[in-house]
Amino acid sequence: MMTADTFGRPLRDLRVSVTDRCNFRCVYCMPKEVFGPDFQFLPQREVLTFEEIARLTRLFVALGVEKVRLTGGEPLVRRDLHLLVEKIAAIEGVRDLTLTTNGSLLAKHAAALAAAGLRRVTVSLDSLDDGVFRAMNDVNFPVARVLEGIEAAHAAGLRPIKINMVVKRGMNEGSVVEMARRFRGTGDVLRFIEYMDVGNSNGWRMDDVVPAAEIVRSIGEVFPLEPLEANYAGEVAQRYRYRDGAGEIGVIASVTQPFCRACTRARLSAEGRLYTCLFATHGHDLKVLLRGGASDDEIAQELRGIWQRRSDRYSELRTSATPGAPKVEMSHIGG
Ligand code: SAM
Ligand code: SF4
Ligand code: SF4
Repeated sequence: MMTADTFGRPLRDLRVSVTDRCNFRCVYCMPKEVFGPDFQFLPQREVLTFEEIARLTRLFVALGVEKVRLTGGEPLVRRDLHLLVEKIAAIEGVRDLTLTTNGSLLAKHAAALAAAGLRRVTVSLDSLDDGVFRAMNDVNFPVARVLEGIEAAHAAGLRPIKINMVVKRGMNEGSVVEMARRFRGTGDVLRFIEYMDVGNSNGWRMDDVVPAAEIVRSIGEVFPLEPLEANYAGEVAQRYRYRDGAGEIGVIASVTQPFCRACTRARLSAEGRLYTCLFATHGHDLKVLLRGGASDDEIAQELRGIWQRRSDRYSELRTSATPGAPKVEMSHIGG
């Protein structure tokens, strides 16, 4: 069944945050000053069980969802994640099942995840320069271990891998060309993401955003590029190919060229709230339904109603005043 919102946007993708915890403290996502030793993460009983997540996913799929992405926090810090992958992979109608991870634990888990039915992974990696990377993840985590995780994902057949690099002015724009050089010709797709004003804790300023056009220009000066057509309607990444045939890159220009018109994503937080926008201030509590004895039909009706009333287009309306508004944190809903 197709379910459309007030702008006619269908519900196609579901992002599931399986935990609000993370072993990194990326400066643009979970800055240490906010997510310090005293930070109260969700108690385990408040986090949806795998059974609850699978049940909701099945209901979302009945409403039109085809793609499911597991995210977090860091999804691989949740124990036995492959058991959730198995459950979701078994749902008829799930065409694509992927995982976004910081890669730190991937070397350990890639084979089990692939065996459980995971199709692909996206690995976040912000620099190949060890010093820059350690400063960005802010827990002194070395690049080499993430590269090992990428290798393990390759070996497990989770290909092609997408590599996400968030570019923040003054931190890692100097790493852009090196990253392009490293992943050209590997079959993996490097995607550059504009630093966004998600949440309220990262102290976002427009000056910190490196516009996608600037990123494309700096790579193109070294490795000539040409634009590619979108793979499908609603693709958020703008794609470019290397003129010498060494593959492609993508840029996600959510700040400088918003794409709300094509946004077909629902986001489920670890404690079972449904957000219809990455920048939402409010999530719809589905856990009360799940744990209050609601039937599948009742929950499905609620989901449909929420999507049909949806009118979010935060990025298109973004002004210099909006970043201060209260918003959900990225680590809560997983980007
Ligand atoms: N921990 C996993 C990871 O880092 O891949 C999954 C969750 S993380 C919130 C998902 C993606 O959001 C990552 O690629 C991360 O780089 C990106 N992200 C986090 N904060 C961001 C921000 N302020 N602007 C743009 N992207 C951001
Ligand atoms: Fe953790 Fe991912 Fe956020 Fe970095 S971007 S702090 S790895 S959730
Ligand atoms: Fe979708 Fe909200 Fe991002 Fe617009 S701002 S693309 S509606 S998540």
